[in-house]
Amino acid sequence: MQSFKLLVDQHHSFLITTHKSPDGDAIGSATACYFFLKKMGKNPMVLLPDEPSEGLLPFLSGVSYKVFENCSVNEIQEMISMDASIHMDYNDPSRVGSEMSLIFEQLKGPSIMIDHHPNPSTFTDYSISKVEASSTAELFYEVLERNDLSSNVDLHCARGIYLGILTDTGSFRFPSVTAFTHHVLEKLLQLGLDHVEIHEAIYDDNSLNRLQLRGFAIAERLEILPDMPIGVIALSREDLRRFNYKKGDTEGLVNVILSIKGIQIALFAIEKEDGVKLSFRSKGNYFVNDFSSRNFNGGGHKYAAGGESKESLDVTISRFKSLVNELI
Ligand code: 5GP
Ligand code: MN
Repeated sequence: MQSFKLLVDQHHSFLITTHKSPDGDAIGSATACYFFLKKMGKNPMVLLPDEPSEGLLPFLSGVSYKVFENCSVNEIQEMISMDASIHMDYNDPSRVGSEMSLIFEQLKGPSIMIDHHPNPSTFTDYSISKVEASSTAELFYEVLERNDLSSNVDLHCARGIYLGILTDTGSFRFPSVTAFTHHVLEKLLQLGLDHVEIHEAIYDDNSLNRLQLRGFAIAERLEILPDMPIGVIALSREDLRRFNYKKGDTEGLVNVILSIKGIQIALFAIEKEDGVKLSFRSKGNYFVNDFSSRNFNGGGHKYAAGGESKESLDVTISRFKSLVNELI
């Protein structure tokens, strides 16, 4: 944890990155880090692998950030030449995509990873890895507190930390929540953070199309596997077109499956241009990360993992069904 303070003390310009298809914790921890460094009088810049969903854009307001996909060679050159870099909420370079992952061979200054995913690989000079942390945002606050830096958390920084904790804990309910999580929340609220505004921005942001897509997914595409605690929703490109799908529209749908009484394993599968993206969730004694890394080139946490398949949607779901005995 001390390496973070050393890095901050000894450098001026910082590149901050996070993973592809950034979620609330990715955007929350990266923007929290950005505003913290600003407060310290530093020159930070956030680099995202791809565009965030529209719902997360308000949280990037006031942040100087670039999207790798849209960057020129010169812009990338400038960013990899910054004094130091901080990589948040991912445990392996592959999580930023194969093209952006090449920056790790070219970074000029020292790098540090701050993350809570299991099995981190060594791709930075320093790493702060804590699997028990509910979120990278919470871990970031812990890093600041342990280094006596938490007085530099202003309202902008607090907003990012709150966003990360809120979204990675399913609104403070997952087993990963601890007394320390609530300690951090207490500190954020003491600063005068408007938590209602954040909840509304995240949860009361539905379009009619999104709500109808979710209704359709639950009514027409949800399948409970016979005599098993497993539910599956699979959406095809045709389904998505029908409801004018936008990135982020199916966020959290996998948890709806898990809310069915008796269901302990959920799979949400969505057909993309180049394959199928899978989201797994589980409860109790069922763990999905190893299953996903073995069978679907993925990984993640015990209770929340992801993966992918290059096969068609139907073939992917059939393959999943043929493998479920491994899970139960
Ligand atoms: P989600 O289902 O929300 O996309 O992802 C849940 C968790 O699974 C993420 O926090 C991340 O740790 C992990 N995850 C998602 N997709 C992938 C993937 O393609 N590869 C790996 N290794 N992990 C993933
Ligand atoms: Mn996270």
